[in-house]
Amino acid sequence: MAIAFGSKKDTTSSEVKSIELSLKQVEDTKRNMIYQLGELFYESNRENESIDEIYKEKVDTIKKLEYNCKVWNNRKLKTQGLRMCENCGNTLPYDSSFCNKCGYKLQAVSEELVII
Ligand SMILES: [Zn+2]
Repeated sequence: MAIAFGSKKDTTSSEVKSIELSLKQVEDTKRNMIYQLGELFYESNRENESIDEIYKEKVDTIKKLEYNCKVWNNRKLKTQGLRMCENCGNTLPYDSSFCNKCGYKLQAVSEELVII
């Protein structure tokens, strides 16, 4: 049977949709707040050696992921014949020994991924 526009069932279903939208907004905001809390916690505890064991593993994993991001960026730059100054972030020819912007003596480029 067709449901006439404005019928009880139609109203109920649009109410449900509106409630679901509100629920989704609250859930998204909550997820975002948890993400921000995690980021804040990570930033203030990444060098904390006496961090509780239940957090340590995750903090260490995030550090490894950050390192691997750097390695992938280095690999990308290398394919373009470039590297980055680890002191100031300047992009330079791959075989440079010193940064032409800040004068930093460049270190060997990290190209090995760490296993997570
Ligand atoms: Zn530099």
